[in-house]
Amino acid sequence: METARSGNFVHAGRAPMPEAIVVGAGVAGISAALHLTQRGWRVVLLEAQHRIGGRAASLPDPHTGELLDTGQHVLLGNYRELLALLCELGSAELLGPAAPLRFALCRSGGERHWFEPARLPGRLGFLYALWRLPRLRWSERLRVLSAVAALLSGAALRGTVEQFLRRFRQPIPAVESFWEPLTLATLNTTCAEADVRMLAVVLRRGFLGSAAGARLIIPNAPLQALLEPVGQWLQQRGGILLLGTRVKRLLLEQSRRVGVELEEGKQLWANALVLAVPPWSAQRLLQSAGLSAELPEFAYSPIVTVYLWLRRAVLPARMCALLGTLFQWVFVHPSTVAACRVALVCSAADTLAELPHTAIAERAREELLSAFPELSAADILHQRVLMERRATLRLRPELARLRPSGRLPHPAVVLAGDWLQTGLPCTLEGAARSGRRAAEWLHRELAERLPR
Ligand SMILES: Cc1cc2nc3c(=O)[nH]c(=O)nc-3n(C[C@H](O)[C@H](O)[C@H](O)COP(=O)(O)OP(=O)(O)OC[C@H]3O[C@@H](n4cnc5c(N)ncnc54)[C@H](O)[C@@H]3O)c2cc1C
Repeated sequence: METARSGNFVHAGRAPMPEAIVVGAGVAGISAALHLTQRGWRVVLLEAQHRIGGRAASLPDPHTGELLDTGQHVLLGNYRELLALLCELGSAELLGPAAPLRFALCRSGGERHWFEPARLPGRLGFLYALWRLPRLRWSERLRVLSAVAALLSGAALRGTVEQFLRRFRQPIPAVESFWEPLTLATLNTTCAEADVRMLAVVLRRGFLGSAAGARLIIPNAPLQALLEPVGQWLQQRGGILLLGTRVKRLLLEQSRRVGVELEEGKQLWANALVLAVPPWSAQRLLQSAGLSAELPEFAYSPIVTVYLWLRRAVLPARMCALLGTLFQWVFVHPSTVAACRVALVCSAADTLAELPHTAIAERAREELLSAFPELSAADILHQRVLMERRATLRLRPELARLRPSGRLPHPAVVLAGDWLQTGLPCTLEGAARSGRRAAEWLHRELAERLPR
């Protein structure tokens, strides 16, 4: 990427390639970089952190040396754009198999039930698993199914999930063992706040969509291993990934050349710019260039993940829902130093986020031991608390009209990120989709007009 303001970078003996700068190497930025490159652009991908992935990153645990994801990530079989991206990077095979949804519902004292849609094919299986939810009478089971049917039909859906559940007179055990865990896991927002239309999207496109789309992928490899091949991928195609490179301000010219000033003062110029950064960072950078895009004041929702290393692997499934506790899910991972490592996840973790890490870890240990009485305190060898305060937007109903499209008054600058209007909750798939869309906009808008 040139540092002067002359024309396009010229490859010897080849037509010049249009150049793009992508700021932010989270999934949205990686997706934008890939799609621009595939359309013939030369891309420089800039990331402020010294690691790839943004909120979907991994960091080493100093005690065990194991790579821990910044939070447990689960993919659905319907993550078509993300899966295509990983295939292109050659890392999709590290994900492991997409398995039919199956998990244990675990209460304190060791009480267990299974949610096992795979016993019957497709949608029928999911409905069957719902029918078999514990502690429900027949009439209540019918009410659960009719609420699901209403979500699928999408007719007159409005308000929060809680309002919807009240309207459909959902029994408390169904709220506890199905609606709440589902809403928290997929929207990172409580039922009291979450937009019911987003939950409908999750069910319609995911769990009650095609059989393949409803499958679950719990990555077998750290997220870093999935995403880091992008550096080499770009390099092989004339681009570059620069980690530890924070953009301080944007530079826009009348001639439509766009650039960035890095923290160390260096300038980079290109034909187009994708800002694949979170809203607060996008706002600052846009203001630095006098672009008058007023982004709304978003509300965010935290996620807390506590990793516990166990001496004994006794959990009944790779994925267990915890009922009646602050932590909602436990995932089991292999460990090089213990029988297994479990990740306890608390979404919409406002209560926990106020506590010191020691208190959070203590709570996680208590809740794990209470749900799995076969474990004792001595079985917990090591612990690590990770908290992402601004993990995702709070998906309240009013957010639907606040999420911007990502297009800006300047034709050569666009936004990408899971927080934009993607039609999806704030997910890896939403991020991948927004990156692809940003690349398409720029290419359509600019490629024809650039000097060749
Ligand atoms: C704990 C947790 C669990 C999650 N679980 C799931 C899950 O199970 N399934 C799922 O689908 N999604 C999940 N998500 C959501 C998913 O991680 C996000 O939707 C996705 O990673 C967002 O990607 P992004 O590229 O839009 O943003 P980000 O990942 O935030 O990327 C933005 C990047 O921009 C960089 N940046 C910012 N400012 C600058 C600057 N000035 N210069 C250079 N770089 C800059 C940042 O460092 C960052 O790397 C989870 C998120 C969290 C936090």
